[in-house]
Amino acid sequence: MDFTRVELSDDDAAFQAEARRFLADIVTDEVRRRDRETGDNFDEAVHLALGAAGYLEGEYQPEDRGGFTRIRRRIWELEKRRAHVPWVTWGTTIMVARSVGAFGRPELVAEVLPKVLSGHVRMCLGYTEPEGGSDIATCKTRAVRDGDGWVINGSKMFTTGAHNCQYTFLITNTDPQAPKHKSLTMFLLPLDLPGVEIQGIRTIDGDRTNIVYYSDVRVDDKYVLGDVNNGWAVLRGPLDAEHGAVAGIPDGLQDIAIMAHQGGFMSAAVDAVAAQVAPTVDDGSVAYRLGRSAARMEASLSTPSIFGRVALAQTMRDIGPDLMDIAGPASMLPIETPGAADDGASEYLYRFAPLAGIYGGTLEVFRNMIAQHVLALGKPNYSPPRTAS
Ligand SMILES: Cc1cc2nc3c(=O)[nH]c(=O)nc-3n(C[C@H](O)[C@H](O)[C@H](O)COP(=O)(O)OP(=O)(O)OC[C@H]3O[C@@H](n4cnc5c(N)ncnc54)[C@H](O)[C@@H]3O)c2cc1C
Repeated sequence: MDFTRVELSDDDAAFQAEARRFLADIVTDEVRRRDRETGDNFDEAVHLALGAAGYLEGEYQPEDRGGFTRIRRRIWELEKRRAHVPWVTWGTTIMVARSVGAFGRPELVAEVLPKVLSGHVRMCLGYTEPEGGSDIATCKTRAVRDGDGWVINGSKMFTTGAHNCQYTFLITNTDPQAPKHKSLTMFLLPLDLPGVEIQGIRTIDGDRTNIVYYSDVRVDDKYVLGDVNNGWAVLRGPLDAEHGAVAGIPDGLQDIAIMAHQGGFMSAAVDAVAAQVAPTVDDGSVAYRLGRSAARMEASLSTPSIFGRVALAQTMRDIGPDLMDIAGPASMLPIETPGAADDGASEYLYRFAPLAGIYGGTLEVFRNMIAQHVLALGKPNYSPPRTAS
């Protein structure tokens, strides 16, 4: 592993100082408190300010089109994390916007992209359905041709951020008779169309997500992305990005693991519990368990790419309860509750860890991907065992 420190040029150091100052001004305690309260992982005023200052464009565009250099991209990512910028909705928007850029008709790209960069347009992921999400190709939401346009009926589960977005990246089935990967068509569906209903769901860690119903939603043909029944080609890019199946650049300027951001909650909890118990550690078992949690955390944070995604979420699940146990009964009180041990950091980790191993693909699905695609062990076989005749 490369632990080299990057020496910043004067210009890059100035960029870092300016980014830090800018974020400190706009991401206030009140923004963070409100974000915890709503579970939105999004703040419109912050997002619009980032757009107006050009940070969204810098992040979206490649370097040769005026986007950040590799160094500045890394600085920007780290500064955003330090400031706890609400981030989920921009994460989905940037993935979808790239697909719109690649597969949208020119008039759709012109309608949408400038507003993505200014922050006025946000996009969410309409993949998962109430009856099953891991295999998203088994999509039941139907889009049927109707004159010049389409009529959409169905429902999507866990459409995170839909209530703060203007469009959803919607998987539909346009040919139920076809093999599943040849039956899909992608839409960039405006969420303000009649027949779209968004209902909030709160998850155990306090995040807000949504179930979205689509009832006879009429949409113009221009919102189709790519070719009809060839939605899988449109989906591949964002899915690969989410699954970490894109090759990393070996310059040390990006996260080691995918979903490393989420690992920040784990290091916050380990640090908070260590700070609480360290001054009085005279019990060998406490020191041992704290040390074991810290070592497991470091190992998971140092595990690369797709393996790291599994290691991080699994380690969060494993050490969360241990940290709470070390911190004692007051660790059951959540953040900002008077008397909470470690200010609720390990309690939050405990509630967040299960979700971190579900969204973007469950740990079981990721383990299968490693077995199949990295270790070449073949497809898992779920057929019942053969009985001797
Ligand atoms: C907080 C949160 C936010 C989310 N945000 C979004 C979003 O914005 N957009 C969106 O579309 N979805 C979103 N999701 C949905 C998420 O992607 C799915 O929950 C996930 O892909 C699993 O699908 P499922 O819940 O339908 O479970 P299922 O696929 O029904 O799985 C049930 C169980 O079976 C196991 N399983 C399934 N298939 C396999 C397999 N092939 N091998 C081994 N085990 C398997 C799973 O691991 C799981 O334990 C979100 C989920 C959460 C919790």
